[in-house]
Amino acid sequence: MFRLLVPHHIQNIDPYVTGKPLEEVEREYGIADSVKLASNENPLGPSPKAMAAIQVAVSRLNRYPDGAAHELTRRLSLHLDIPVASLIFGNGSDELIGLLSMALLQPGDEAIIPQPTFLMYEIAVRATGATPVLLPLRDMAIDLDAILGRVTPETRMVFICNPNNPTGTIVEAHSFRSFLEALPPSVAVVVDEAYAEFVRDAAYARGMAFLPEHRNLAVLRTFSKAYGLAGLRIGYGVMAPELAELLHRIRPPFNASSLAQAGALGALSDQEFLQKTVKLVHDGMDELYAALGDRGVRYIPSQANFFLIDVGQSADVVFEKMLRLGVIVRSMTSYGYPEFIRINAGLPEENQRFLKALDTIRTE
Ligand SMILES: *Cc1c(COP(=O)(O)O)cnc(C)c1O
Repeated sequence: MFRLLVPHHIQNIDPYVTGKPLEEVEREYGIADSVKLASNENPLGPSPKAMAAIQVAVSRLNRYPDGAAHELTRRLSLHLDIPVASLIFGNGSDELIGLLSMALLQPGDEAIIPQPTFLMYEIAVRATGATPVLLPLRDMAIDLDAILGRVTPETRMVFICNPNNPTGTIVEAHSFRSFLEALPPSVAVVVDEAYAEFVRDAAYARGMAFLPEHRNLAVLRTFSKAYGLAGLRIGYGVMAPELAELLHRIRPPFNASSLAQAGALGALSDQEFLQKTVKLVHDGMDELYAALGDRGVRYIPSQANFFLIDVGQSADVVFEKMLRLGVIVRSMTSYGYPEFIRINAGLPEENQRFLKALDTIRTE
């Protein structure tokens, strides 16, 4: 008998549904050679230098990791030109979303979350017992003025996913500057830049540029996307040392494993691989945009490695049909866009497989 008394704010959380691994989908549908364009992963695999660094670290797995991630912190602070005390690593940037919420929120507090966006923010806020204040996007972009209009004495945190997942739209530097100046400095701004490496628009608000003047800002980055290490689980936050210090107090002491630290160091040293990834993604996005344009299919141009496509019919049905054709995409029904799918740019042959599947479905 399950007799535990679970707080209401935990009972009310809808679980995060992750994209299924390729192998599981293939087993379930009895297909082979499928392509996955559903989780915004790096289609090139991990950097060879990251793999080599992990190999070396394997022989020291009997030892606990460096709990302070000394070398990675030093190297990354040089790479980003930020103080060592501003950095904190997490078991993916997911963990940092949780730690920030845990450090700053309690029941009665409010956190403003644009909708739709990355689903982890709402889960992390609810887990603390604080109240998520959900605010619709305007024209698929984050509406900073609307956020300012919803700030109350209870507001403690605002989440800005930039570029926003799943729409791929960005917040621009000039509007972000006015936003930060208008916001009470007691409200924390969490900027999630999981896709920053892919952004081409020069107007993009790079959160780190605002850190020296705004100590209520926390910028999250990850090795999961452009650096190709989603399976390794390592991300980082850059913020005022006072805020980083709070998170260090509550994080598990070995939250970045020794393999994760080694892999991140290897990946960081392979900027050539990063550039190759970014170029592959840009070329793939341009190719997909052109092919959809030729077909008269509407899509939302994006600054990330993924974008939304208006399929003009039930996205859940399209998702199922695509699966049977061996192409895994993400239906946006649970994000409130029941006729949109999201795909990420893959290898050229994967992009072609997607277009072929789309053509098959459209001519049915
Ligand atoms: C993929 C993604 C992340 C990355 O999470 P990790 O835990 O670092 O793998 C964070 N934020 C957004 C918006 C994402 O799409």
